[in-house]
Amino acid sequence: MSYDLPCATPRDRHTGPRRPAHPGRRGDPAPAGRPTRRRKPNAIDGIRSQMDKWTVKDYIDNKLVHSLHTSERRSFRGCRRRWNWAYRDMLYPVVTPKALEFGVAFHKAMEIFYAPEFWAKDQEIMKLAALSGFRSECDMQLKRFKTLNGEPEVDVLVDYKERIELGTNMIKFYCETISPHYDQGFRPVEVEVEFEVPITGPQGELINCKCEQCRRRWKNSDAGVKHHDDLQVKLNDRLDNYFEDHWRGLPVTYGGRLDMLAQDDEGRYWIFDWKTTARMLNEGTEEAFLELDDQIASYCWALKTHYNIPVAGFVYVEIKKAYPQPPEELSRLYKGRKYSTNKQFMTTYALAKTTFEQNDPTALAVGLYDDYLNWLKADGPRFHQRHQIHKNDHEIEEIGKNVYLEALDMVNNPRVYPQPGRFTCNTCLFRQPCLGKNMGEDFEYTLSTLFEKKTQHYWEEKAASTE
Ligand code: SF4
Repeated sequence: MSYDLPCATPRDRHTGPRRPAHPGRRGDPAPAGRPTRRRKPNAIDGIRSQMDKWTVKDYIDNKLVHSLHTSERRSFRGCRRRWNWAYRDMLYPVVTPKALEFGVAFHKAMEIFYAPEFWAKDQEIMKLAALSGFRSECDMQLKRFKTLNGEPEVDVLVDYKERIELGTNMIKFYCETISPHYDQGFRPVEVEVEFEVPITGPQGELINCKCEQCRRRWKNSDAGVKHHDDLQVKLNDRLDNYFEDHWRGLPVTYGGRLDMLAQDDEGRYWIFDWKTTARMLNEGTEEAFLELDDQIASYCWALKTHYNIPVAGFVYVEIKKAYPQPPEELSRLYKGRKYSTNKQFMTTYALAKTTFEQNDPTALAVGLYDDYLNWLKADGPRFHQRHQIHKNDHEIEEIGKNVYLEALDMVNNPRVYPQPGRFTCNTCLFRQPCLGKNMGEDFEYTLSTLFEKKTQHYWEEKAASTE
């Protein structure tokens, strides 16, 4: 059986069972983005532009949608003030681009390693291709950095080189040791799968939005100009209140990008998400949040409902930002051992044993490393973890309902106020203007000097990353 993958021709297939009503047709819901003025029907109601025949697919194809992403949903739930500045005012902190976005370069390596066309081919060739992809991405980033900032300082270059070494060794370890053990029983179907799907209500009804961003987007588009001009001609220049009375708004959609879609030997589909991390989740306690995590779960909903792909769940792949190294040699013998048995050191049982066998066989033979080796075998440092979360049909349906309700809240001109939290405020990029606003200071000045107003959201311009 084959399915319409969003990646095959992004944004142009909507074969799911709950295809929404087309915007522009009678019976569509009133736009929800902004309260609309109700008026009595009059003679101009029958007058339509060709553009009113557009389907939601046309809007998506032309990128004329109000696209919601998981990051925005989380921000909305976390703090309305921060959400308003980041997603409605589109204020982003002015930052100097880094010489190396490690997560982006690592993502490139994974994308190449799991490319379906190379799958089950020579593992060594796949590894070399992944390493080469990582290196090219790093080179490209440094080049871009130099173009924008001139020659980098010495410490920037040192850091850049250290992280290339880190990435190269991580990729080697992943391809040589992790992949042969874990990558069994499935095959990649597609990597880097972008999707954009309509958010619909219980009856398949669309949400339309008339927020400032949507108005601007429509006004600056060829379609918007044509729609306006068509009506103006038909109404002999009597086109008043265009946005209020003649425009439906843009459909609200859900967008995202998944790292990999794979199919297991039983024919079920799984969404894979790769994450590089300095600290792995503590199994048995921390990974429980994945059961409730709504990011990848909402991707399951999007693929299942709108592309008719029977997704069984997701696989969350954690990759430690470290690689195994041989135990450190001590400057002098300690309790008869030449090598450190420091449990903080990032090594593996196999690597440590080989090192002791080759360089300290006597101490190994009399059991001076036994405790350490046993610990490494049972509880040693982890460099990789996979969490496989199954989602049943009911859960996926619930996710769709929740996305719809949340979208309604977000586009219905919600009240904006600060929602401080012990953890959220500490890492909030808007902390300074937020404090300023609380204290009655000129926070607008802070916003205008430390932030820049963008015309595109980060997901429209930023490459995929594992961070
Ligand atoms: S500092 Fe806290 S309250 Fe202020 S915008 Fe950020 S998250 Fe909200």
